[in-house]
Amino acid sequence: MSYLHLKVPPTRDERLKPCGAFGGTIDDLVHGHKEGCLGSNGRTFAQATGCQLNLAMGMAASIPNTVVIYHGPVGCGAGSLAIAGLSKQNQLARGNIDAIGRVWMSTNLNEVDVITGGEEKLKQAILEAEERFHPHAIFIGNTCVPAITGDDIDNVAGQLQPDVKAKIIPLHCEGFRTRFVATAYDIVYHGILRYLLGDDKADWRPENEEELRDYQERSKRTVNLLNVGSMGYVDEVELVRLLNAIGLEANVYPCFSPPDKFVKVRDAALSVSICATHDDYFVEHLKELYDIPYVLNTIPIGSDNVRLWLLEIADFFNIREKALEVIEAEEAELREALKPLRKFFEGKTTFVSTGEIRAGAQAVMLEQDLGMKVLAIRTHHYDKFGEVVFDHFKGRDDITINVATAQPFEQANLLNRLKPDIFLGHAGSNVWAARQGFPVLPIYGPVNSYMGYKGVFEVAVRLERMLQNTNYYNTLGDTTTLPFKDFWYDEDPYSYIQQTQDAA
Ligand code: SF4
Repeated sequence: MSYLHLKVPPTRDERLKPCGAFGGTIDDLVHGHKEGCLGSNGRTFAQATGCQLNLAMGMAASIPNTVVIYHGPVGCGAGSLAIAGLSKQNQLARGNIDAIGRVWMSTNLNEVDVITGGEEKLKQAILEAEERFHPHAIFIGNTCVPAITGDDIDNVAGQLQPDVKAKIIPLHCEGFRTRFVATAYDIVYHGILRYLLGDDKADWRPENEEELRDYQERSKRTVNLLNVGSMGYVDEVELVRLLNAIGLEANVYPCFSPPDKFVKVRDAALSVSICATHDDYFVEHLKELYDIPYVLNTIPIGSDNVRLWLLEIADFFNIREKALEVIEAEEAELREALKPLRKFFEGKTTFVSTGEIRAGAQAVMLEQDLGMKVLAIRTHHYDKFGEVVFDHFKGRDDITINVATAQPFEQANLLNRLKPDIFLGHAGSNVWAARQGFPVLPIYGPVNSYMGYKGVFEVAVRLERMLQNTNYYNTLGDTTTLPFKDFWYDEDPYSYIQQTQDAA
């Protein structure tokens, strides 16, 4: 599927035809998507959605020794303020003691630039980034305005590259280009594949022959562990621990990984994703370019999916027996550890909201490992990669599934009907649930553990603690209101979804 000859990779809308609007049963979603009936679903009313720019720039800025330039009005970079410090904190956690964190600039386009063009400002910004920070790479994030007015960021990059040491990497991540923010992952991986991975001059080779032989031998049992977005350092440590336990080594990319080490990606025996929503574009290209097979089927959250993930990796290396030994010992230990906690979850109900793969796996974990009852699953979008995790819920018409990026009005209506004991969601949806009085456990946080066996136990402990005392959320629910009219709560939560092939 190589798209690397293109300056602009295809959007998820074009490439995977995901579903962005749905309400109903899991069987109807999975079946409808397989039949190709849901890709053009839309809404007759939409409250909010996401912009891929900030996701792309967040991922780019996680790579140390880089500068990200927002090419556009200054407001497009406002999201960066909310995550200032996160990159530095994460780099420090991974042992990069020289980390200076996220370095970002804006070309600050104004009304005059809309008429005269913004390319001069972009050139100045690139030269200033080079002079002030001497980075390994400069990412240019194109925004809607210069894309509409016709600035050619690839041409600017090409003109300046001979005089600039940093790799200049254009990213076409304009918000208007796609309905699916996950396109951002493809955009950044496209830049990494085109500009960082093909860099034969990068300093990576062991210095002497013996070390080189050792490196080549170890590479045969080394995997690329891809850590985009949903994995904090504690999760990396846990997954590397499990991979080591079955006799493998792991190099973790791309977030918080030095860009001059990216070429090592090409030497691994296998690429291991923790989420197809993040990585399918990258692993497919690694297979095509460097003949590196991949594992992409699930996310290692909950003991069922950890088992599936580890066995798929083990089968590639022909070490299933060893993996089963590790899995059985870990599962036995986990069962013991969960025994005193499980009684707190008996009869408790939950509502899960996040990306499709994580939402499915987390829901399985809550039922299988903890014995809770899942009432609803909300996913940002749905595509073919959801089939493996959602297969677990085949035939379950007692779970409602809502596909929606944001759309808090639909979530509020569902929560008001279902009244779960606890809500697990992402930052954008948690605040709405909390204001309705529902206890909230963030479904992802960079300093908390979610993956592997440790993740199951730690989520259980946090849930138990949360359910012991819900006073904060009760008070919040009693003292705040959402902006929706009372009549909305009596309406069908899916009444604005157009589930037709011809919907906009
Ligand atoms: S949608 Fe366009 S204008 Fe808005 S923040 Fe994203 S890139 Fe900027």
